[in-house]
Amino acid sequence: MKWKEQLKGMAAYQPGKSEEEVKRTFGLTKIVKLASNENPYGSSTAVEEYLNRVDLKANIYPDGYAGKLREALSKKLNVRPGQLLFGDGADEIISIISRSLLRPGVNAIMSKPSFVQYRHNAKVEGAEFREIPVKEGAQDLEKMLLAIDGQTTVVWLCSPNNPTGTLLKTEDLIKFMERVPTDVLVVLDEAYVHYITEPDFNEPISLLDRFENLLLLRTFSKIYGLASFRVGYAIGQESVISMLDPVRSPFNVSSISLGVAEAALADDEFIEMCRTKNAAGREQFRSYCEKRNLHLFDSQANFMLMEVKADADTVFLQLMKRGFIVRSGTGLDAPNYIRVTVGTKEQNDEFFEKLDEVLKELGVLS
Ligand SMILES: *Cc1c(COP(=O)(O)O)cnc(C)c1O
Repeated sequence: MKWKEQLKGMAAYQPGKSEEEVKRTFGLTKIVKLASNENPYGSSTAVEEYLNRVDLKANIYPDGYAGKLREALSKKLNVRPGQLLFGDGADEIISIISRSLLRPGVNAIMSKPSFVQYRHNAKVEGAEFREIPVKEGAQDLEKMLLAIDGQTTVVWLCSPNNPTGTLLKTEDLIKFMERVPTDVLVVLDEAYVHYITEPDFNEPISLLDRFENLLLLRTFSKIYGLASFRVGYAIGQESVISMLDPVRSPFNVSSISLGVAEAALADDEFIEMCRTKNAAGREQFRSYCEKRNLHLFDSQANFMLMEVKADADTVFLQLMKRGFIVRSGTGLDAPNYIRVTVGTKEQNDEFFEKLDEVLKELGVLS
């Protein structure tokens, strides 16, 4: 058949291994999955309450406008309802943006390492992608600016950056936006924004009024603990949202997903609790790595990219045999590092014990 040339040799997204699969393969009874930055505290009790009382009309299409969630979220974020675009996860929004702006002959700029879907979608659209190496885990904005030319249509930023966890300072973003051509869309992926505890951090939402070509991306999958429901959204100016909206599939977020997202949005206490516990967990990782002289990126997210001073795939496999699923840095453009989701205090302590075992076995620790 006459497939797009660029699809030849492309593979589907490789998700982290499922718990069932790992249990079966290694004969384990208990698994801790610290591979996909899911929330170890589950989701708000408001979600459970909603699911208990919802009168689901299975035969009726969802509200394609997401009216109720749109209204609740626009109030919460203090933006106009028309400034929001909802997606079947932030992943769908990444593909909507790519479908809208990328094609053969144009290019997208992104960091390396960063979230792999930016590159994947650029490939699907047959666009060129320019990957700019990070500097100490943070996006190198100066080099990204230099990479922009007349054929650039989109620049992908991610803060905190997945997989390094590093934060982009809003002052630096402003200076960057002042120099980016106004006809280039800058997407700032904020999937982990609620995990930020840096006291000097300023929310970039207020910048949307100043820079029409800035678009923010967020998700209910991470701190809200709703990854299985698939709800993400973009915040931007109406002029940008209205160009992306026709590319969205008409009923892209299911009724039940819209309902749980709205329920979760009302529970700020749950978010606060997760943020606080996660920050304490990050400190556990810092102290672990410091004592063992392993490099650790300065993360403001719910995952840590840590050095293992050994082949990351081997460490990954050895940890999996011991019941812990993490991400090997090999597939994340970070060899000799693993990315570990911050778990509960107990999960982290147990993980450190197993990692000590593995690193001793491999001769990294004595
Ligand atoms: C998890 C993640 C997403 C995707 O979120 P979904 O809403 O679950 O599709 C997007 N960007 C980054 C950086 C992520 O880590």
